[in-house]
Amino acid sequence: AKASVNFLEEALADTFGFDTFKGNQEAIIQSLFDGKDTFVIMPTGGGKSLCYQLPGIMMEGCALVISPLIALMKNQVDSIRSYGDSDEIAHFLNSSLSKTQMRQVKEDITSGKTKLLFVAPETLTKEENIEFFRDAKISFVAIDEAHCISEWGHDFRPEYRRIREMLDLIGHNIPIIALTATATPKVQSDIVKNLRMGEDQNTFVSSFNRDNLYYEVRPKGKKEYTFRQIIKLVKEMPDQSGIIYVQSRKAAEEIAQALVVNGVKAAPYHAGLDPKTRSRTQDQFLMEDVDVICATIAFGMGIDKPDVRFVMHYDIPKSIENYYQETGRAGRDGLGGRCIAFYAYKDILKLEKFLRDKPLMEREMGAQLMQEVMAYSETTACRRRFLLHYFGEEYDESNCNKMCDNCRHPRERVGVTQEMVQALNS
Ligand code: ADP
Ligand code: MG
Ligand code: ZN
Repeated sequence: AKASVNFLEEALADTFGFDTFKGNQEAIIQSLFDGKDTFVIMPTGGGKSLCYQLPGIMMEGCALVISPLIALMKNQVDSIRSYGDSDEIAHFLNSSLSKTQMRQVKEDITSGKTKLLFVAPETLTKEENIEFFRDAKISFVAIDEAHCISEWGHDFRPEYRRIREMLDLIGHNIPIIALTATATPKVQSDIVKNLRMGEDQNTFVSSFNRDNLYYEVRPKGKKEYTFRQIIKLVKEMPDQSGIIYVQSRKAAEEIAQALVVNGVKAAPYHAGLDPKTRSRTQDQFLMEDVDVICATIAFGMGIDKPDVRFVMHYDIPKSIENYYQETGRAGRDGLGGRCIAFYAYKDILKLEKFLRDKPLMEREMGAQLMQEVMAYSETTACRRRFLLHYFGEEYDESNCNKMCDNCRHPRERVGVTQEMVQALNS
C-alpha cells in the first residue's frame, strides 16, 4: 500500500504541483483504482475535481465526466489544459461545438490523447454518441454535481435521472464516481438509488465545516440604509472579489449601479441578461476586471474562483442548503471569507407570499425550509454550529474560534429581532 501512496503523491506533484492531498482525496482516488463505485460527499472548495482529474490523467483510456453546465465544463477544461502539456488532454462535447470540432474530439479520444472528456447529460443521450462511447476505451465515469439527480436537491435536472440508463446502453462495466457538496441524507440516498451504485460501493463523507469562513447576520433596514452598509463593507475590502446575492433582477441592477457610482468595479448577473453578456461578465470576474458580482441565483455554480473574499446576501435565501452552497463560494483557497446575510422578517413574509400559488406539497416544503432560515437568522447561538447541525453534523461551538458574529460578540447576544429592524426603519 505504501508504494501506491507514494505513486499517487508523485503523480499529484507532477501533474498539479501540489505537495499533499486534501482531506479524503487520496482514499477516494485509491477506491477508483480498486475499481469500486465511489460516492463522494465533500463541501464546496473541498477539492472534488481532483478526485477524478488525477486518476483520469493516470489511468488508461478516457474518463467521462458528466457535468450540468457548459460554463462549468469550459472552466475545468481550461484549468486542466493549463496544467497539462497538450490541449488534447481534455475536451468537452456538447451542443456548442461544430460538426468538425466534434469529429476532432472523437479522433483525439480514439487515438488515446484525451484523458478527460466533459459531457452534458443531453450529449450522452444522443444515439451516435452512445455508439461511439460503446467502442471507446472509457476508464471510469464521473458524475459531478450529482445532487442534480434529486428533486430534493437545490438544483434538480431531469436529464440527470437518465444517466444510469445511458451508461447501461454504453454497456461497459466501468466504475462510477458520483460527487456532490450536498449533505442532506434524502439527496444522498436518491443519488445512490438512482445510479444503482454497486453493493460494495465506497462512500466518503467529509466534514462540512468551513473554518476559514466568518458568518454574520445583520438587520436589514430601509433600502438606502442597507445599500450604504454594503458599499461601506465592499470598500473595506478594496480590489477583493466578492458576490452579492439578491432575489430580483432589479436589485441586482441597482446594487451594481450603486457600487459602480462609488468607484467599485461591479456588474449585475441575472437570467434577464443575454447569454453573451452573462458569459462575458463571468469571464471578467475570473480575470478580475470585475471585482463584485451582484447576482441572482443564476451565478456561481461550479465557478472555480479560489480567492472570492466575501459573499453577501442582500436578500435571505430560500433555504439553509442554498445559503450554505452560496457562501461556500467564498474562500475556496483556504484563506478568509466573509459571509454576511442581511435579514428582515418582512422578507420571509415576501417569500411566503411567493409560495401561496404553489401546489400544497411544494408550499409545505418551502415553508419548512424558510422556518430554518428564519431560525438561523434569529439565533443568538453559534451560526456555524447551527449550519452544521442542519446537515446532521455534531459540532462543539467552542471550536468556532470566534468565527461567527454570535461567538465573537457573546455579550450582545440579542440576535436580529423584528424590533431592531423596525427601529432601523423608523
Ligand atoms: P469542489 O469541486 O469540491 O468545490 P474544487 O475541485 O473546485 O472544489 O477545488 C477547490 C480548490 O482547491 C481549487 O482551487 C483546487 O485547485 C484546490 N485544490 C484541490 N486539491 C488540492 C490539493 N491537494 N492541494 C492544494 N489545492 C488543492
Ligand atoms: Mg466542483
Ligand atoms: Zn460561532
